[in-house]
Amino acid sequence: MSIRMVPINELKTSRKVGIRDVLDVVASILHDNGINKTVVVNKENIVIGNHEVYWALRKLGVKLVPVSSREIDTYVSLEYMGFYDDISPEPYRVFMSTLELLYRNWPTPLVLLSGLSHNGLRVWAKLEGFNPFSGSIKDRIGWYMFIKAIEEGRTLESNKLIYEATSTNTGIALAAMAAIHGFKARLYIPTSIQKLSDTLLKVMGAEAVRVSKSLTVEFVDKVDADARRDQAIHLNQFENDYNFEVHLRYTAKEIDLQLRSIKARPTAIIGGIGTSGHMSAITFYFKNKFRDKIKIYCVQPAPDNIIPGIRRIESGMKWIHWVKPDRVIDIEREEAIRESINIARSEGILVGLSSGAVVAGFKRLVEEGLVDEGDYVLVFPDHGFKYVEQFNEYLSRGDSRS
Ligand code: PLP
Repeated sequence: MSIRMVPINELKTSRKVGIRDVLDVVASILHDNGINKTVVVNKENIVIGNHEVYWALRKLGVKLVPVSSREIDTYVSLEYMGFYDDISPEPYRVFMSTLELLYRNWPTPLVLLSGLSHNGLRVWAKLEGFNPFSGSIKDRIGWYMFIKAIEEGRTLESNKLIYEATSTNTGIALAAMAAIHGFKARLYIPTSIQKLSDTLLKVMGAEAVRVSKSLTVEFVDKVDADARRDQAIHLNQFENDYNFEVHLRYTAKEIDLQLRSIKARPTAIIGGIGTSGHMSAITFYFKNKFRDKIKIYCVQPAPDNIIPGIRRIESGMKWIHWVKPDRVIDIEREEAIRESINIARSEGILVGLSSGAVVAGFKRLVEEGLVDEGDYVLVFPDHGFKYVEQFNEYLSRGDSRS
């Protein structure tokens, strides 16, 4: 009986499986860095055995799958299955569409922050502001949730309308998807968010609706009801497991691949939580891969503080409860703004307020003596250009700051 390596796209199955259904298998594949048995197929390449392995590999984004006509116990590594081939940037930066500009441009940069690094300590920033539509990490979910909805036929019955609750970034990403695919987007944004967002969304051809609440999650039900009434698609970033999946398949894998390329592995990763999509996937990926050899820290706004894009765990999140970060650190809004400005002034890059919160979280760990040697990765979710109003307000309150 022989084992063949078959492109995953040539395998067929009638079952539809979500990431939640195969989470344990995905975890053990990450831990073993490979699989221990073949996927069983018939002559037509229809999967007839070890479906869960096939689906886990699909969720992880491998290119080739070892198959046989009866199960064979054998070890095949993720590398051998083309696990990292997902990330294939276009070397000369010529793109055949603006969509390619997103996924053929990954990985987003991982840059050493020299102002925070010294001796054996290297602090890296993953610059999600380099994504083309919203200048944020949310382009990833906007794209993935949207293409999956098309694949699953969800867009067919719709009125080519797309509704979503957003603190801006997901909104811009979805406005871009709508523009590219001939849809109309309506984005519901809380009143706590900067005024600039309305203009940006309108420029992108979307409708911006302000809701008098301070958190997006507070009006998801209203958006859902409106979407049902108008036969619009509501992708719902707070519940849609493709939010978690896209970060597992790309964002986390990129950090892994980027550090491997310089023969390093992460000592700790620090990031902010909003829907919790990216940090939950990063925690899942690295905690399974390296177990207790890696620390994961999340930051959230301190009580009664508003930091655009992130919020407190108790306001209700899905995926963070699938994983166990080592700690969640409270950050004040003022600290977040101050640290965004510090990064601009020491590293010359403009980053958003939630990135400032991540830096503040890292500094808290340093103060507490918890940072030693090693490679620390700070996930910076977006570019700073959207926060001119908050920067202005902060700077105008005191000469020492300007
Ligand atoms: N930072 C910014 C600026 C964001 O827009 C978001 C999400 O909206 C986050 C952080 C949090 O990301 P996630 O929703 O993956 O938890």
